[in-house]
Amino acid sequence: MSKIGFIGLGNMGLPMARNLVAAGHQVSAFDRVETACAEAKAAGINICPNNGEVARDAEFIITMLPNGPIVLSVFEEILPAATKGAIIIDCSTVDVSSSKKAHDMATSAGLGCLDAPVSGGVGGATAGTLTFMVGGKKQTYDKALPILDIMGGKVVHCGDGGAGQSAKICNNMLLGISMIGAGEAFALAEKLGLDQKALFDVISTSSGFCWSVNTYCPVPGVGPQSPADNDYKPGFAGTLMLKDLKLSQQAAEETGAATPMGRKATQFYQQFVDDGFGNTDFSGAINTLKSMKRDT
Ligand code: NAD
Repeated sequence: MSKIGFIGLGNMGLPMARNLVAAGHQVSAFDRVETACAEAKAAGINICPNNGEVARDAEFIITMLPNGPIVLSVFEEILPAATKGAIIIDCSTVDVSSSKKAHDMATSAGLGCLDAPVSGGVGGATAGTLTFMVGGKKQTYDKALPILDIMGGKVVHCGDGGAGQSAKICNNMLLGISMIGAGEAFALAEKLGLDQKALFDVISTSSGFCWSVNTYCPVPGVGPQSPADNDYKPGFAGTLMLKDLKLSQQAAEETGAATPMGRKATQFYQQFVDDGFGNTDFSGAINTLKSMKRDT
């Protein structure tokens, strides 16, 4: 049994913390939202008065927060209180620069640090089947692996500090692009009078196969169950896709990488969110495409 501190009990953090309790660990936590703390308390999680108290005595401190600036401010609160040798695991999705800064801060304070963003959404967090993409020292990773294994179905060590965030934004940039591609293919098929199910049967067994078609088809009634079959309720909301695409463009800007399709996908999902679909699943992009004119 380990003493685990958990900060950020939102859509993802609370179910992750619950799984740690269910596995027999002693979990102390804080969230600035009182209702989140109350839900966690009901699940057997000890609630602390602030982030610093969460860190005190913890062997592992897990953060699951909205963005880089918040992660860095929380690190400032927890580093002075944490025990030397403790390991901070930041599971938030943040920009690579903030993640590297967080690693530097933790290392200077004598703590281990991993960036460990996830894929799999709220469903994966609840089921304990998240994919973790981890950056940080191998020996720190080895110590944290049994904890990550409780919350995840797959854990990949991607490299040094920041490598987990790098992997996450590359994956999600590809996902954003491929979902638009899938939407375009089915929208064109409709104009051609081609049956959507027939196109699915072809693509899913041909060279166009991809997760966006085979597992998460944006057309209702076609392929395995997906948000399209549930009126495009998320799933993975448009705002979250836009967030990750923006992080990819920030990283591309900082490194000078050419990502023309990533840039287009970012512009597309910005419009999707501006049009009021931010809380719709990102696969709803197909409906935007169907409503667009040829020259847009
Ligand atoms: P969320 O907004 O539901 O939860 C974030 C929590 O952090 C909130 O409860 C908030 O009150 C808390 N918080 C913010 N500032 C704080 C502070 N200073 N101290 C303590 N608590 C604070 O977000 P989420 O959906 O749980 O996502 C968390 C992270 O996981 C994000 O970085 C997101 O990009 C990433 N992510 C989300 C999903 C998803 O499907 N929701 C999937 C993969 C990755």
